[in-house]
Amino acid sequence: MIAIAVHGGAGHWAEDERADAEEGVRAAAAAGWDLMAVGGSALDAVTAAVAALEDDPLFNAGTGAVLNAEGAAELDASVMRGDTLASGGVTCIRRVRNPILVARRVMESTDCVLLAGEHALAFAREQGFGDFDPVTPRRLARWAAAKAKQQGDALVPGTVGAVALDGDGRLAAATSTGGRELKRPGRVGDSPIPGAGNYASARAAVSATGWGEFMMRTATAKAIATRIENGESPASAAQAVLEEMAARFAARIGVICLDAQGEIGIVHGTEGMPHAWRSSRDGGVLARFSA
Ligand code: ASP
Repeated sequence: MIAIAVHGGAGHWAEDERADAEEGVRAAAAAGWDLMAVGGSALDAVTAAVAALEDDPLFNAGTGAVLNAEGAAELDASVMRGDTLASGGVTCIRRVRNPILVARRVMESTDCVLLAGEHALAFAREQGFGDFDPVTPRRLARWAAAKAKQQGDALVPGTVGAVALDGDGRLAAATSTGGRELKRPGRVGDSPIPGAGNYASARAAVSATGWGEFMMRTATAKAIATRIENGESPASAAQAVLEEMAARFAARIGVICLDAQGEIGIVHGTEGMPHAWRSSRDGGVLARFSA
């Protein structure tokens, strides 16, 4: 059994962007699937899927990420493998093309879990990741309009993520984001924090999107994983935690999750969340804008 699910961020998507968003998540899921279909690991699959979404300027991660209050793209990403509980991440990193690849390198080549800001960037350069400007003209125009109003769009879709199960029964999760529009420089969201926006264990993998400040305080990804580990189905585990968060904080989030049997849960409390999935049970990659 192999399975993969990816998402392109919960929030308000403009009508004319929805078809492209669906196509973007479909392509990302296919990229991850194709690797596992020839024996690749879940870790390879989630890394490839998230890197593909980072490279698609439509999504709020990597190229096309939203900008902070200074007009800079400060990026957060993390990856985790379920079999070893190894995790690596970067936060507030600027000027790299694929933060998820740097996050993976942190996991595999250092004894750290999370590197921040200029030190994360120095590590990336040391590892051969070249200079790259992820700011797109479209994001810059939107940023200028938001800055003029002194108000970021709270509903701007944020974050991309992937969860996968490979043929050896290993789970992995990866998540990457530009965070919230007009955020304070140095602000860290949930995506690079294991257990908040991203988590994988031997029996569950989770990637979340939505208001990070709430997810850090409720350890959202870990809360969902624990329910799955205790025997709940991925969909009902995610739904239960979404409802708890909505009741406590009026926080609306989106989640993709997966168990060790390849059962996928895709749940969002927001109006839309482009997502795609494929498992050995399905004939091809299925993509939808909302659940
Ligand atoms: N979770 C992301 C953050 O707070 C943003 C989002 O998914 O909307 O940084």
